[in-house]
Amino acid sequence: MWTALLISMSAMTLIVALRYLLTSGAFALATSRVRPGLYAGLSPQIRREIGWSMVSALIFGLPAGFVTWGWQQHGWTLLYTDMADYPLWYLPLSVFLYLFAHDTWFYWTHRLMHRPKWFRIAHAVHHASRPPTAWAAMSFHPIEALTGAVVIPLLVFLVPIHVAMLGVVLAVMTVMGVTNHMGWDMFPRWLVHSRVGEWVITASHHQRHHDEYRCNYGLYFRFWDRLCKTDRGLVSH
Ligand SMILES: [Zn+2]
Ligand SMILES: [Zn+2]
Repeated sequence: MWTALLISMSAMTLIVALRYLLTSGAFALATSRVRPGLYAGLSPQIRREIGWSMVSALIFGLPAGFVTWGWQQHGWTLLYTDMADYPLWYLPLSVFLYLFAHDTWFYWTHRLMHRPKWFRIAHAVHHASRPPTAWAAMSFHPIEALTGAVVIPLLVFLVPIHVAMLGVVLAVMTVMGVTNHMGWDMFPRWLVHSRVGEWVITASHHQRHHDEYRCNYGLYFRFWDRLCKTDRGLVSH
């Protein structure tokens, strides 16, 4: 039993680390093609970003591996594999519920971490990336990594979701984490400045958080920033 738990937690750590390296690597490569020289002189910073991200991979991997083990061995969680268990319309709704819950948790913990004391302790590491790169996606102090690592492992006990939809949530989480830090918007200007862009966060929005600190705290949506008047709009690239 303990062997299975150890294998599950090691496997998850390895998966999270590889997922980070492949996704950040792919978008860093794209950046070198689309915006040559954007990361010039940032090699020491990028090395630090990768180092912190590897520690974060362990912090994300352990609870994920623990819950996956509990799901397989003991039937924990509200994860389901049979599409017929819930109505089809629940599939997209569950993705939205997960993203919105994660966004809400992130917005409020992120604002807390901008209080001077917590900033020094837990969040300064993430803001040491000036400007952030595609490698900064998981560049967090272990305390901040822990606040992010518990979200999905807790949500699977509270909100039912099909495993494939959980895959969608994790894919969105991974890609947005990387692309929102890479320094340029991969979406066309018309989309970023459209109705969708008014509510969904892209690189131009999160970049402004890294430039100015006291605004644009959200993760996926601009809902909380707009409601709490912390939204200062996009930075122009
Ligand atoms: Zn950031
Ligand atoms: Zn911040």
